[in-house]
Amino acid sequence: MNSSSTQKLDIQKVATSRVGEVDFNNLTFGNTFTDHMFECDYKDGIWQNATIKPYGPLTISPAAKVFHYGQAVFEGMKAFKDDEKRVWLFRPVENFNRINKSSVRMAIPEFPKDIFFEALTTLVKMDKEWIQTGLGNSLYIRPFVIATQVGVSASPSTEYKFMILMSPAQAYYTGDVRVEIAEHYSRSANGGVGAAKAAGNYGAQFFPTNLAREKGFQQVIWTDANEHKLLEEAGTMNVFFRVNDTLITAPVSDRILDGVTRKSVLALAERDNLTIEVRPVLVAEIVEAAKNGSLKEIFGAGTAAVISPVSAFSYKGTVYELEKQQDGFASRFKKELMDIQYNRSEDPFGWRFEV
Ligand code: PMP
Repeated sequence: MNSSSTQKLDIQKVATSRVGEVDFNNLTFGNTFTDHMFECDYKDGIWQNATIKPYGPLTISPAAKVFHYGQAVFEGMKAFKDDEKRVWLFRPVENFNRINKSSVRMAIPEFPKDIFFEALTTLVKMDKEWIQTGLGNSLYIRPFVIATQVGVSASPSTEYKFMILMSPAQAYYTGDVRVEIAEHYSRSANGGVGAAKAAGNYGAQFFPTNLAREKGFQQVIWTDANEHKLLEEAGTMNVFFRVNDTLITAPVSDRILDGVTRKSVLALAERDNLTIEVRPVLVAEIVEAAKNGSLKEIFGAGTAAVISPVSAFSYKGTVYELEKQQDGFASRFKKELMDIQYNRSEDPFGWRFEV
């Protein structure tokens, strides 16, 4: 890894903040960006020119490799403001490690930890007025890397741009989610890029997800590409099942993203002495559990929505409705996680990181 801790972070501030123009009660997720962004270039084998500058367009050659071969990875993380206006990140080292893991899979050079954390904390501090207090309000942070070398030969780029954008967010999904279990399309395969947050993984899901939407399902739960028999994860969430009082989720693999929310839910469940099974989950057993009444809950876990209860799932044309659980696992984990994120409870795991 190339480290350039001796290099200074160049900071160019906006003349006037746009924060006063924002209607924080009517935000569309991911559409509004804060005053500043971070940019750093990889050239001649080293990450250089680390700069925080006003948010704005880039000038990039149309022949840059990212446009042709999709060499691009990203992350999604959040900052929260507590009632005393202190600002916290949630397990940021996990996101840092994961973007480098994604980069390795996509033949992109890893980014140095010292530059990442200096840039991230400086940027969050500079734009902290963009974070509203109150449960559900947050600042969504989007680090990403793109291949910028000019040339359309199909080979890894020798130049890259690492950037961080930040976007104020309210609660992501409002109502419960209806999902369709994939029977034909696949998200990832053994030996593929499913475990990486590679941009193309998301683009590839849009078409099958649109088909599900037309039928009234907001999300697809992906199954294994070989036989469509194992439940894996949703588009931007890992998935949990509660059968009677047992919490079940699939193990992470090279097909499934190692979600920070997922591993946090598992840690809370373990602390609370719940019965946990991390093992391959068969579609057939969940359909059977839905039929015999032992399936109590399905929920998604991910940074954007924290926990999303699933109210119904569709499989081979049959829709299985789930009874709403007022005090189920989903609402309990959501509260426990948000209490830690917003500094409303103890942090026994050391997950909070004050900015
Ligand atoms: N799976 C996929 C495919 C995702 O994109 C995400 C969002 N990063 C997740 C799961 C949830 O991961 P996390 O809890 O780290 O946000």
